[in-house]
Amino acid sequence: MTASRHAETLVLHAGPRAEPQTGAVAVPIYQTTSFQFRDTAHAADLFALKEIAHIYSRITNPTNEALELKLAALEGGVAAMTMSSGQAASAIAVQNICQAGDNIVSSTDLYGGSWNLFAHTFKTMGIEVRFVDPADPDAFRRASDDRTRAYYAETLPNPKLAVFPIAEVARIGKSLGIPLIMDNTAAPVICRPIEHGAAIVVHSTTKYIGGHGTSIGGAIIDSGNFDWEANAKRFPMLNQPDPSYHGAIWTEAVKPLGPIAYIVKARTTLQRDLGACMSPFNAFQFIQGLETLPLRMREHCRNAQSVAEHLSRHDAVIRVIYPGMHKAKETDRRAGAYLKGGRGGLVGFELAGGMEAGKGFIDALKMFYHVANIGDARSLAIHPASTTHSQLSEEDQHATGVTPGYVRLSVGLEHIDDIIADLDQALEQASGRRDRAA
Ligand SMILES: *Cc1c(COP(=O)(O)O)cnc(C)c1O
Repeated sequence: MTASRHAETLVLHAGPRAEPQTGAVAVPIYQTTSFQFRDTAHAADLFALKEIAHIYSRITNPTNEALELKLAALEGGVAAMTMSSGQAASAIAVQNICQAGDNIVSSTDLYGGSWNLFAHTFKTMGIEVRFVDPADPDAFRRASDDRTRAYYAETLPNPKLAVFPIAEVARIGKSLGIPLIMDNTAAPVICRPIEHGAAIVVHSTTKYIGGHGTSIGGAIIDSGNFDWEANAKRFPMLNQPDPSYHGAIWTEAVKPLGPIAYIVKARTTLQRDLGACMSPFNAFQFIQGLETLPLRMREHCRNAQSVAEHLSRHDAVIRVIYPGMHKAKETDRRAGAYLKGGRGGLVGFELAGGMEAGKGFIDALKMFYHVANIGDARSLAIHPASTTHSQLSEEDQHATGVTPGYVRLSVGLEHIDDIIADLDQALEQASGRRDRAA
């Protein structure tokens, strides 16, 4: 079944088909901390990685494993590891190959949490993050040196919603022996970064994959296509004996299991030590979400496209930010090259009335929820200048693509007429407010 290339089928059928003991079709919630060993020899083999089976739910759990197999299939990878949050996934994806004294090169267009992790927390750990503007892919090459361990970027970063040049940067990385890590949170199904050369994909499953705003979670997916051994000097953590695992050399120890050294090391060392694991209950929730994700993404994209077109015709709106509607030709070309079957569920727009209109618009919404989240089945809105980006100076806000009148929508699955009606009445009120103020 996993040979199928259709997302709709993969999310339903990849992984275990039925629970072997009872035949249960839906993946059960294995709410257990530990798994009994058959005997002492079995236990010893498991700890020596001679045989792979569940030991303790911080490391692996059957419910989580079912989700991992589905995610790996969806992204076209060979293995995955679920994590407690998207933040944990981003942090461990980097820390797995990067230690004090090393650096990564990251796109400037990042989720705020990733920005803080990279600019501040990693710095305290001695990991340097060099930020470059993704509009110029070659900037990644120029920022690299022999201590560069990875490139990092988001497929569809908001608020700019300018699709990242995945193949261009992956190609540069390949020539230097540097893997590209892609955060694909905002574009599951519609983009498969591994097909364009990414080595590792990370997700905040909290967003579209969960899809119902109920659970926080994350995942790392290993493409299996990056040659860590050919670049052994760059990756001592994978190619030299690991004192934390009786001197295992991960690329050699894991070889019999397939090209999964990266993800096995992440699990057996960092997940073991840092313990940022997903609960089986949340894994179950994410499986429910994942099974309808391709359907939902189609509808999110369709509704968002209609909203973007509607807003672009509205008097109170001076600019709409949506993939395919950018002024820069190259930005639009990338949206076409990397997004298939839709341009995503996020829409940005700028109100003529600036800060006051932005706040007034949000306060006037009746159906949209005002929250700092994306990817919910319900429509969501936020005014970044007065919330998520309010700590930044106006200059820094501008650099991230946020202007005083900027509003971000995560367009949901309600009927399009109801979505447009709510936007229209809020625009009416917000621009009315502006006229009175003027
Ligand atoms: C939300 C988000 C994250 C962080 O995920 P959490 O599950 O909230 O920790 C990372 N990247 C992107 C693009 C996100 O939207």
